[in-house]
Amino acid sequence: MSSTPASASSLASALLRKEVLELHAYHVPDSFGYIKLDAMENPYTLPQTLREEIAAIVGNAAINRYPDPNPAVLKEKICGTLGLPQGMEVLLGNGSDELIQLLALALNKTGATLLSVEPSFVMYRMIAIYTGMRYVGVPLAVDFSLDLAETLAAIEREQPALVFLAYPNNPTGNLFSARDVREIIAASPGLVVLDEAYYAFASDSFIPHLASYPNLLVMRTFSKLGMAGLRLGFLAGSKAWLGQLEKLRLPYNVGVLTQLVAGKLLAHHEVLLQQAEQIRKDRAWLHQQLNEIRAVQVYPSEANFLLFRVADANAVFNGLKQRGVLIKNLDGGHPTLKDCLRVTVGTHAENERFMLALKESLRNG
Ligand code: PMP
Repeated sequence: MSSTPASASSLASALLRKEVLELHAYHVPDSFGYIKLDAMENPYTLPQTLREEIAAIVGNAAINRYPDPNPAVLKEKICGTLGLPQGMEVLLGNGSDELIQLLALALNKTGATLLSVEPSFVMYRMIAIYTGMRYVGVPLAVDFSLDLAETLAAIEREQPALVFLAYPNNPTGNLFSARDVREIIAASPGLVVLDEAYYAFASDSFIPHLASYPNLLVMRTFSKLGMAGLRLGFLAGSKAWLGQLEKLRLPYNVGVLTQLVAGKLLAHHEVLLQQAEQIRKDRAWLHQQLNEIRAVQVYPSEANFLLFRVADANAVFNGLKQRGVLIKNLDGGHPTLKDCLRVTVGTHAENERFMLALKESLRNG
């Protein structure tokens, strides 16, 4: 068989699933040299002493060995530090993206449906496609709140095996009404996963309600709290669910360095919480600044980013880029996000640079 690129590409086209051929990969833009406010990262580094302690831990790590396949100590630290209710356990993932995929694989009986709302985190739909699940996206109301009647009707009609709700939602930033969410959980015949990726910046959580609903799991990630590079997320819930799901987890999905460094950082949780508190304060400042510009409509946020609408999102996005600031252009992603942009809350200096560049871009394109 010839191995020229042309024949490899026709072979790939012939062999790959149609859904995969039609997919566009999750696009991560080149951010080198920019003030990076596009990916909801924590902008702060760690105190020097902690960095030195981490350097020593990493230096002594047994990277020639496979990681602990079931890091019980790290799991206990997570349960203790985050105050999970008695009897609840965690399942660790290589970021929460991996857990979305694990859940889809686990619940994908023939013809099973994954339901979410739109606009929301794009990976719910993408992972449904990767795993061959049916996907249903229920539109949010114009103010990005849940359309409860439509969502309940869709649940009744579609009988989804799996429902994802981001709490707070990405990319809109708002926290759905807890009462609406409770109605959705109660009405769902399938598993409901509340994705609390932005919990550190939000005023509410469903973790205290885990024991009240047999079909509820809460998913969290440490990515937004300052560990995006480590890739660590978890599902919290009862042993009845997690014990089964555990069978699908790849044996060494959380690496040695992630286990060690995350363990160390959880022992200094207060450092990360202080940074999150600063980000919440800066979010309020940024919200007020955006609110003062007549050409900008800014939405409420309980996350570490703000969604805002302008007259011409593409022009503003490019204007910001030319001025060295990278944010996320959501225009084209969903009809209700027309001319919407999303900015991650950075350091105060970064936020000031962003505001300056935004004002110039609005004036001059
Ligand atoms: N859920 C939501 C709502 C998100 O916005 C993100 C990241 N953008 C994730 C999950 C995935 O986070 P990670 O894979 O870094 O844990």
